[in-house]
Amino acid sequence: MNPIPYGRQTITESDLEAVVSVLKSDYLTQGPEIPAFENKFAEYVGAKYAVAVSNGTAALHLCAMALGVNSVSRVITTPITFAASANCIKYCGGEVWFADIDPETYLLDINKVRSLLEAHPKGFFQGIIPVDFAGQAADLEAFRKLADEYGLWIIEDACHAPGGYFTDSQGNHQNCGNGNFAELSIFSFHPVKHIATGEGGMITTNSKQLYDKLILYRTHGITKDPSMFLNSPDEVAQGGWYYEMQELGYNYRLTEFQAALGSSQLGRAEANLERRRVLAARYDKAFENSPVIKPVNTGGHAWHLYVIQVDDRKGLYDYLREQHIYAQVHYIPVHLLPYYKGLGHSKGEAPAAEAYYERCLSIPMYHALTDEDQDRVINTILRYFNLAVF
Ligand SMILES: *Cc1c(COP(=O)(O)O)cnc(C)c1O
Repeated sequence: MNPIPYGRQTITESDLEAVVSVLKSDYLTQGPEIPAFENKFAEYVGAKYAVAVSNGTAALHLCAMALGVNSVSRVITTPITFAASANCIKYCGGEVWFADIDPETYLLDINKVRSLLEAHPKGFFQGIIPVDFAGQAADLEAFRKLADEYGLWIIEDACHAPGGYFTDSQGNHQNCGNGNFAELSIFSFHPVKHIATGEGGMITTNSKQLYDKLILYRTHGITKDPSMFLNSPDEVAQGGWYYEMQELGYNYRLTEFQAALGSSQLGRAEANLERRRVLAARYDKAFENSPVIKPVNTGGHAWHLYVIQVDDRKGLYDYLREQHIYAQVHYIPVHLLPYYKGLGHSKGEAPAAEAYYERCLSIPMYHALTDEDQDRVINTILRYFNLAVF
C-alpha cells in the first residue's frame, strides 16, 4: 500500500524546466526571477507590494522588525498555530500573550482578544497576529476595527491560506494577504503548503513605507539606491561601488531558481485550490453520519488542512499509521511548548485551545491526492469507528 501523507508538494515538468533554465542563466540570486515572482504573487492576492524571503519564519521576523517590535512590546496571538507565529516577537525581544481560540472555527477569538485589551491600559499592547488557521480566513475587518480602537498593528499569518478569503460587511470577498486590513501578511512555500519552493516565504503589504523597510532588512540593511543615501554628498561621491548599510538587516533572500519554481507553481494555484475544495466536500459528505466532527467553513476556506475532531484521537492516529496513512496534529498549543512554559505560560491559559488539541487530527489534504487514495483514507477512518462502536 502506498503511503499517504497529510500533505505534500507536486512538481511538474514545467516546474523542472523553469528551474533548469534559471540554473543555466547568469543569475542564481538577485536576478529578474525574484521581482517577477513578487509581482505575480502580489497580483494573485490583490496586494500592492510583495517581498520574497527565504522562508515564512524570516517573513515573520522581518515584519516584527519593520513594525518596531522591541523589548517593551506586547503582542497577542493564537496558541493554535505553528510556533513561528509567536517566535517572531521573541526574536525582537518582545512579549507574547496568547488569547484563546473560537471553539467553532479554531481561529483566534476576537472576543478573547477584546477582553485582554480591555483588562489593560491603552498602550499596553502593540499588535495582534491572527492566523488563517487551516486555510480558514480570519475576519480581518473585525480585527482592524478593534486594532484601531487600541492603536495596534496587525500581522496576518496567512501561511495556510493563499487564495483564501473572508466576506466583509459589504458582502465583498477580501483575499488573504490583500493588505486592506493588516499592515503586513506573510506566506510560506514549505512543501506542505499550497505553493512549494523547498524553503521560501513572501510578505505582502499595501504600505510603501513598510515595503521599503522590508527590502532593506532582507539584504543586510544595505542599499545601493542613491535616493536613499544618508551620508553627505562628498562621501556618497566616492565611486560607483558605493553602498550604505543603514540598519542591522539579515540575509533573508530567496534564490532565483526558487523564485522561478514559485512562479511556475503559482500558475496552477487556483486549479489546485479548486481540487482541495472538491476533496473537502468529499470528506464532508463521507463523514456526515459518523462520530467525526468536521471542520467549519465560514466561506473562502483555502483548505491547507482538513482538521477533524474525534474522541479517541491517538487510537485513530495509530490505526491510520498501521495502514500507512500519516495523519498529523496541528498544533500542540504554543503556550504549552517547553520554551513558552519557561516564560511563565501554563495549562489553563487557553481552555478552548487545550480542549481542541485533545481531539484534533489533520487527515490527508493536498491537491495531488487522488479520489482513490482519499477513499482509502475515508474507509479506513469509517472502519476504525465501526470496530470501536460494534
Ligand atoms: C509554515 C508556517 C510558518 C513558517 O513557515 P516556514 O516557511 O516553515 O518558516 C509560520 N506560520 C504558520 C502558520 C505556518 O504554517
